[in-house]
Amino acid sequence: MLIYDLTYEELEEFIVENGYKKFRADQIWNWLYKQKIEAFSEMNNIPEDIIKLLNDNFTFAGLETVIKNTSADGTIKFLFDLKDANLIETVLMNHNYGMSACVTTQVGCNIGCSFCASGVLKKKRDLTAGEIVAQIIRAEKESGVRVSSIVIMGIGEPFDNYKNFVKFISIVNHPKGLAIGARHITVSTSGLVPKIKEFAHLGIQVNLAVSLHAPNNEIRSKLMKINDRFKVEEVVDAIKYYIHVTNRRVTIEYIMIQDLNDSVETAVELAKLLKGMNVYVNLIPYNTVKEADYQRSSLENRLAFHKTLKEHKITAILRKEQGHDINAACGQLRSQNL
Ligand code: SAH
Ligand code: SF4
Repeated sequence: MLIYDLTYEELEEFIVENGYKKFRADQIWNWLYKQKIEAFSEMNNIPEDIIKLLNDNFTFAGLETVIKNTSADGTIKFLFDLKDANLIETVLMNHNYGMSACVTTQVGCNIGCSFCASGVLKKKRDLTAGEIVAQIIRAEKESGVRVSSIVIMGIGEPFDNYKNFVKFISIVNHPKGLAIGARHITVSTSGLVPKIKEFAHLGIQVNLAVSLHAPNNEIRSKLMKINDRFKVEEVVDAIKYYIHVTNRRVTIEYIMIQDLNDSVETAVELAKLLKGMNVYVNLIPYNTVKEADYQRSSLENRLAFHKTLKEHKITAILRKEQGHDINAACGQLRSQNL
């Protein structure tokens, strides 16, 4: 088991159960998450017998770097090998407010979106909480930067690995852990309705983004197989429920694909669907992938779409692409190396 798999409370329990004082957990987490050392033997204020206990029960060896690509815009993309030869991706993105890490939650994805490189292959397995934490520590170590925000938008559907995802949040958000504020963490879901409702009651201030990508079932079903299970209306109702319970604004993700979901009429339909909701639309230029036959929406269409939403009083931002020169789209690097 990875040492990063333990929550603070679990480590404390383990230490106490083995006959040692609670404060050792505090010291160990300080080494793990403040000093970021990667060997128990370096914990030089911890007695030998506890070091042995840790070595006997836990490991650091979670990830091995296979590829590290740096883009002209400062984006750094890693391909990591989990110890069982499964490959995952982690991306660091440079923003004016700091460095943000995009983490993977599953090896592959079962949601099967037709535009996504990760969805083409069946999910092999879920990542443990510690394997998600380790991505941040490894990426920081390999690039010498400090991550100040996290987006859970790498390979996989986090709400399909809900328990480990919640555990991951508790480790990175903990003041003695990576201490990344909940407001600096964003989770993106393809719209698993029951989980959106459950997440509303979690009681932490993590930001929620929902991948809508279309204002009607006709277009959304072409893009996302999951739409056969949870229709646009149900997803929108779940978002309304989440906003009602948490009083928080939700991000609507909308990837822009040429001649598919980028017309002015579609923008009007989207505006009507979202009218009066506390949401913010993130318009993302589609990154072409070899697995799918879609093209990125033209700049002209993207600008007209954005303008239409604004005219209808919908808050929206038109994103610049990041890291296109290094295949930073979700799952691309992995699929090229399988
Ligand atoms: N499974 C979750 C989170 C991972 S995908 C979800 O679908 O929300 C994170 C985001 O990347 C989603 O909004 C997804 O639609 C988007 N995405 C996937 N492939 C993409 C591509 N080729 N270009 C642009 N965005 C893409
Ligand atoms: Fe899975 Fe998200 Fe890709 Fe869809 S877009 S296949 S949900 S990772």
